[in-house]
Amino acid sequence: MLESLGNILRKSVDKITSAIFVDKKLVDSIVKDLQRALISADVNIALVKELSEKIKSEGEKYVKDVEKKEHLIKLLNDEITEILGGEKKELKLEKQEKILFVGLYGTGKTTTISKLAFYYKKRGRKVAMLGLDVHRPAASDQLEQLGKKIDVPAFVDKQEKNPIKIYEKYEKELKKYDLILIDSAGRDALEKSLIEEIKNISKILKPTHTILVIAADIGQTAKTQAQKLKETIGIDGVIITRMDSSAKAGGALTACHEANASVYFIGTGEKPQDIETFNPTSFISRLLGMGDLESLLEKVRNVTDDKAQKKLTKRLEEGKFTLDDFAQQLDSMQSMGPLSSITKMIPGLGKTKVSEDMLEGQESKMKHWKHAIKSMTLEERENPEILEKQTARLQRIAKGSGTTTGEIRQLLKQYKMIKELASGAKGLEDIDMSNPQKLMSNKQMMKLAKKFGKKKRMF
Ligand code: GDP
Ligand code: MG
Repeated sequence: MLESLGNILRKSVDKITSAIFVDKKLVDSIVKDLQRALISADVNIALVKELSEKIKSEGEKYVKDVEKKEHLIKLLNDEITEILGGEKKELKLEKQEKILFVGLYGTGKTTTISKLAFYYKKRGRKVAMLGLDVHRPAASDQLEQLGKKIDVPAFVDKQEKNPIKIYEKYEKELKKYDLILIDSAGRDALEKSLIEEIKNISKILKPTHTILVIAADIGQTAKTQAQKLKETIGIDGVIITRMDSSAKAGGALTACHEANASVYFIGTGEKPQDIETFNPTSFISRLLGMGDLESLLEKVRNVTDDKAQKKLTKRLEEGKFTLDDFAQQLDSMQSMGPLSSITKMIPGLGKTKVSEDMLEGQESKMKHWKHAIKSMTLEERENPEILEKQTARLQRIAKGSGTTTGEIRQLLKQYKMIKELASGAKGLEDIDMSNPQKLMSNKQMMKLAKKFGKKKRMF
């Protein structure tokens, strides 16, 4: 169901979660992907434009990147949920119901009626189906056969050509049932004769609900159909079939919402059980494969210590960034938990090729660096330069912290890089923020450090 939209949405969430900064470039690229996906799902261009503008203007709203990320993901989620219909609209059934189903030929009316019969029978209703499709000879057979399959009576008359007479024939017997699902004849197009026939049936049968069945294949043209039938025969809502086999489902869903017609159910296959109530919220989280996103966002929020951040920025600006500050930076990274568990929580990222070895290597490196910093004297931590030429000091620290002099040299290099780059960096547009694996490489770390410096932020 809507695979390509789902893929794009997941990709967008990945892009946002793994990006270091939420900037215009990121928002633009997400909007572009989304536009493509929505248009290929046959969503109305005007609607796509409107949605894009909203995401663009709202997307960068917050000051801190952590909040921006959360905001942007929620924005994406909420806006798409909204164009698909927003709140779930439920078909509320009373004790006694008579539901008339209308729609063009081949949209799935008869199949849907039997699916709903099965659905409500399982929920304890006494269901009967009434076949009033007098136009196509095979229609009654089909309803009968489907009825046998699910063990629900199908009232049909293969000879009678007047739907009202068929109803009158079974009227008394139908009183024994509390949910009557009525099949009607379709047409190739929305003809006057169809509307007249439905109006006629409605006058006599007095259905409690009239529901339009459309196939997802018709995409955004569902809007005119739903609007017209609302005006003429007064439909209550819509069921969209073939959600499983049409790429235009997005168009059909959004069009119904635009026509102010509630989508109660969606058909997702040919079998009796292939029907489900339509809830835009859960539909989207399923498309997104949301994972444990909320808790990730929570964690990202928790480690962002505003005060420490400001202090660090100030020290960087003043060129007073010491190894203690560097250790603090490592701490806040580690307080997010093992890197591997973090990547697992990010939808999609868990599946990418961020190798366990690499992450472990990164983690143990960070741990060693912290041990090494702890073994230094205050003088060394504040003026790490004195360590560079004094091998004796390096050996002492390595011995005291269970690390190697090589590791300490690497630590010093990393520290120096951040410090130097913080005080004047060139443009960094070529950093690929969406690829965490690349980001972990030393070269990227260097570029990143530059970016940190430029933006005067560490995280
Ligand atoms: P009607 O003319 O409106 O009564 O349409 P039918 O109920 O006879 O269905 C037409 C065809 O669409 C049949 O072959 C059904 O099996 C198929 N169909 C109906 N609903 C679905 C659905 O949700 N998914 C798929 N894949 N096929 C469906
Ligand atoms: Mg039919």
